[in-house]
Amino acid sequence: ALQIPAVVGLETITDLVKEGDLLIVDGNAGEVVINPDDSDIIRYQERQLEHEAYVSSITKTGHLPATTLDGHRITVQANMEFLEEVTAVIDNGGEGVGLYRTEFLYLRSKGLPSEDDLFEDYRQVAEIMAPNPVTIRILDLGGDKVPSDLEMSKEINPALGLRAIRLCLQEPDMLKTQFRAILRASIYGKVQLMVPMVSGLQEVLDAKLILEKAKEELDQEEIDYNQDIKVGIMIEVPSAVAMAEILARHVDFFSIGTNDLIQYALAIDRDNEQVAYLFQPFHPAILRMIQQVVNAAKNAGIGLSLCGEMAGDPLCTPFLLGVGLDNFSVNARAIPLIKTVVRSITLEEARNDFKNVMALGTANEVRNYALERTKSLIPELGEKGYVQNPG
Ligand code: PEP
Ligand code: MG
Repeated sequence: ALQIPAVVGLETITDLVKEGDLLIVDGNAGEVVINPDDSDIIRYQERQLEHEAYVSSITKTGHLPATTLDGHRITVQANMEFLEEVTAVIDNGGEGVGLYRTEFLYLRSKGLPSEDDLFEDYRQVAEIMAPNPVTIRILDLGGDKVPSDLEMSKEINPALGLRAIRLCLQEPDMLKTQFRAILRASIYGKVQLMVPMVSGLQEVLDAKLILEKAKEELDQEEIDYNQDIKVGIMIEVPSAVAMAEILARHVDFFSIGTNDLIQYALAIDRDNEQVAYLFQPFHPAILRMIQQVVNAAKNAGIGLSLCGEMAGDPLCTPFLLGVGLDNFSVNARAIPLIKTVVRSITLEEARNDFKNVMALGTANEVRNYALERTKSLIPELGEKGYVQNPG
């Protein structure tokens, strides 16, 4: 989002790079070249120019709606983490914010941020994005990301520990403060509220009780808020997938968080380099889980989006459209590209793609199918190395 190329997980790089070395960071290929020779530098400069030209060509259409070749309108929104990113969302043609991660407000504040601090931040995002929606996610802290003011014990397995809604429910006053700030901001635009890491209905019921308390307090204080604010949950824990049908009766929308869903469903720590090769968005089990959630949301008639990294991967777009998703929330920089892929396909073809990948048994087969498909839809993506097999 900040337009800085990044590559992670290069195990030995800090031993190999010395002060003063020249580096080329190729974020598309996931490569870093140390002390490139002249021919490398020229090659990469050419690629950089090509890349910039391609990005500016698709960014020109970023503000236009994303409609499939047979006329189905798809919404592409943005994920963001800091207020400052809102400019990138608008510049790239985001149709709202599908996921506003609020952790940074806690991590960068000395103590806990006050209700007014939160409100001021949310109000600005809501106002800037209006009339498009802004989905504010309550705190997803826990594990190793803990503000100094919260007393928490060290956990052996932080990803399975006191995180997100679990932490919020243990600190009801902190949760109520967040709800009050979100409710107060809700009259300045189209604000929705989202609860992360839900593992079952009880958490939703408990969170809603605290939301009701926050509303009652604001009523008593005669402070305005949107009485009908939409409340959604992230579906990112396998038990929530299994319970999707029931959960759908209690919320206004689902947002599928595939980053965590992959971690929890495939038992792969998303931060562990040793098993990074097993973090597989294309795993057939993940496709089936997404399908189950889509069906539950559609049957209940509630809103639905996907906000994990998969949503911004052009390889995934055809089969995600095919399973029935029509709302994607992606890194701001990916918005024009995802809209471009949407415009290159019919919904009928996409449904066929989903059917085809559902017949495959391994993540590699699904990935290869997706790679060939996206390259055939938009040949430039393959030719210029934006989509490729892992190196
Ligand atoms: C996800 O888990 O897919 C997600 C979008 O949330 P985060 O990456 O913030 O955990
Ligand atoms: Mg998550």
